[in-house]
Amino acid sequence: MSRYMSARFDGLEAYVPGEQPQDMRYVKLNTNESPFPPSPEVRAAVNAAEAERLNRYPDPEGKVLRARLAEMYGVEPDNVFLANGSDELLFFAFLAFCDGERPVAFPSISYGFYPVYAQLLRLPYTEVPLREGFVLDPADYCGLGKNIVIANPNAPTGRAISTADIEEIVRSNPDHVVLIDEAYVDFGGESCLPLIHKYDNLLVCQTFSKFRSLAGGRLGFALAGGGLIAGLEKIRYSINSYNINRLTAAAALATLDSNGYYLENSKKIQASRAYAAAELDKLGFETLPSLANFIFTRCPRMEGGALYQALKAKGVLVRHWDRPEISDWLRVTIGTREQMDIFLDKVREILKEAG
Ligand SMILES: *Cc1c(COP(=O)(O)O)cnc(C)c1O
Repeated sequence: MSRYMSARFDGLEAYVPGEQPQDMRYVKLNTNESPFPPSPEVRAAVNAAEAERLNRYPDPEGKVLRARLAEMYGVEPDNVFLANGSDELLFFAFLAFCDGERPVAFPSISYGFYPVYAQLLRLPYTEVPLREGFVLDPADYCGLGKNIVIANPNAPTGRAISTADIEEIVRSNPDHVVLIDEAYVDFGGESCLPLIHKYDNLLVCQTFSKFRSLAGGRLGFALAGGGLIAGLEKIRYSINSYNINRLTAAAALATLDSNGYYLENSKKIQASRAYAAAELDKLGFETLPSLANFIFTRCPRMEGGALYQALKAKGVLVRHWDRPEISDWLRVTIGTREQMDIFLDKVREILKEAG
């Protein structure tokens, strides 16, 4: 590390993104992207005319896109916040609402960025253990008296909790912000969005990266009461008021014009998810019930790291973490049916070779 680097980041362990090989040699099931390209409407919207306007800054208020999202979700534009990926949104939220007096809590096994942002901002944070089988018990968060961040469905487990459970958490922590990260809500889950009309401490975060096939465009959004959104806007205008670029805004709007395409894709993914889980079951794998576009699964006969390596050697990338609590497990993104068949074939080969 450079001797010029500030010592305040000495203890910081940066987030490690999943591998992004740029040569497309792999069947890529490791970072929960959609296997389907954006809709034709997106390809038409990100056009030469839009490129020609790149000499001008984008609208810092993102008016058109916010109005469309507001209409779609039955809220006012003042209830919508846009960010350069929900990663940026999460960072803004940690910065806006957490400090020494307002510590943050999140599940011990969840999205890897939560502890990184807490460390980066030097926030006191609590990692609340999950229960047996990676089950999140809402009772662990009721009346906690801390800001709370929960991914629902959770990553990397795929398990979800009900809106009623979320309401109980939100209601019992009236002086703290409850952020529900709904990155995977569009694969069969239920959004807690209606609760924002009732509770001013609920922040719902979603992304265009998964369901809307736009991971490369980087767009996340939050839905909440006007107070929380105004807080986020204050931070955004203090860091990067032009955080949504023109091409991304145009692409995102076009996805909203082709909802049917994305809903169809989600149905296909949900069918492939059930298929992959059933096939793995025949091979003796244990797979958690998932409402996301991935499954969390373990092979009783092979350690997770070894299986990950063997799959990679055969051209299939999945995600594995070296943490002891989950080192037996693999997170496998649901691709197309064809991709899942390749994955399953390679798993069968590997198990046969292992004897
Ligand atoms: C993928 C993911 C995000 C990040 O999404 P981007 O919008 O691509 O930054 C946020 N939260 C969870 C739980 C995710 O899995």
